[in-house]
Amino acid sequence: MIIGIDDTDSRKGMCTTYLCAVLVDELKKHGYGNISTPRLVRLNPCIPFKTRGNGAVSFEIELSVEKERKEREVKEVVKARVSELSELREEGTNPGVVFIDDHALDRIRGKENDGMLKNFYENAVREVMKIKNAYEIISNLHLDYFALKNKRGLIGALAAASFLVLQKTKPNYYDFTYELMAYRRKERWGTLRVIDEASVRKSDAATYPLTWDTVDVANNKLVFAPHSPCPVLFGIRGDSVDAIYKAYEHMHAEPVEREKLFITNQGTDFHLIKCEEAKEKLQDYHSYVLDGVVGSNPRTIEGGHVVFSILLSGKTEERSIECIAYEPTKGFRDIIRKLRVGDEITVFGSLKKKTLNLEKIELRKLNLVEERNPRCDKCGRTMESAGRLQGYRCKRCGTHRADKDSVIVDSGVEEGLYEVPPVARRHISKPLVRMRMEGANRKIHPGR
Ligand code: ATP
Repeated sequence: MIIGIDDTDSRKGMCTTYLCAVLVDELKKHGYGNISTPRLVRLNPCIPFKTRGNGAVSFEIELSVEKERKEREVKEVVKARVSELSELREEGTNPGVVFIDDHALDRIRGKENDGMLKNFYENAVREVMKIKNAYEIISNLHLDYFALKNKRGLIGALAAASFLVLQKTKPNYYDFTYELMAYRRKERWGTLRVIDEASVRKSDAATYPLTWDTVDVANNKLVFAPHSPCPVLFGIRGDSVDAIYKAYEHMHAEPVEREKLFITNQGTDFHLIKCEEAKEKLQDYHSYVLDGVVGSNPRTIEGGHVVFSILLSGKTEERSIECIAYEPTKGFRDIIRKLRVGDEITVFGSLKKKTLNLEKIELRKLNLVEERNPRCDKCGRTMESAGRLQGYRCKRCGTHRADKDSVIVDSGVEEGLYEVPPVARRHISKPLVRMRMEGANRKIHPGR
């Protein structure tokens, strides 16, 4: 049976991954059966209802003997823990749980209904869904579920369960990574986290790039621990389970209550809708990869954010949109400030209020030609305009030139891919160092 869970936490406490870890350990302890590595899926990062990273979880439990009775018992344990541990007093917490038992799994496979789950998972990462979209599938596939308050958590719960169903049949269909989460002892929740920074930096240096987004070296910050009162002490993200555990073993910190390894879609860029797949009209709360040419020189606005416009080359209705690199993206803004009108670029990010919030940028072809007033051949001074459509002249020497000079400039930046630093990275965004490890044939400038 596959179990998906979402929306149990609030900014004041709890974490759905912790609830999942508690459940997995409890069910294991009671010997209900083998339990898979749990999944942590990050859904549409623009959704306003999210608490933090829009995460949802799922796991599979294999019940061998007395299946039906055990299934009933497992469901009761899950419902009890979700009811007990969810932050139900908080307005935005609307828990949802979806159960896909073996009968339902047979139905899904038999009628090739996994296409329905595939679409649901992909839409939950890229689109804005309604609770009724989850209900339609739940009722079509006769799935059992449990939900509280406005039941919005069913969206994430079904998406997380769907991801696991799909990974079961095609393990490598979706790109995935790992995160090892360490959880705090209850008496420490809400207190300052005790983590030995030096040991974290050493572990990071010894395992990067197989682990990533632990330390932001450029900004001199640990980025693997939250600052909220939630039960998470820290999470080590990476592509290699061995490297993650090696890093973990060498870190010194307060004693943990438990730890749990998750398979996750973090660091994969799965939220990005490619140019060619984008609908004709770009929509807010969606994330895109868009090609175009810089249409206006970048300018720094109040708050230190940097904005410029891009003239789009795709088939979208909009011919041009604004792009923004927010102040928290720190050094990334220095790259953006060096853009010049005419640079051919690809932008990656989420659209909000018709402005693309930049996560990455590829400088595909820099416009290095600058038109300047010509210099006088005799005295070397810059010539002045001789009037509209009348070329340029040197007042002193009386020389004349018809056109401007084309000069090759050094824009101070190299072509290639750039990203926001780890301190500003969304969970689902793919670190450029992962592209490098995949052997991408592009110039890559990791931002850490
Ligand atoms: P945390 O990361 O700490 O677990 P969170 O950021 O995941 O918190 P949730 O508390 O899970 O936030 O709230 C997100 C809510 O949005 C859930 O109810 C989830 O079902 C819903 N949701 C997720 N993806 C979408 C989507 N694409 N469209 C509409 N609703 C969504």
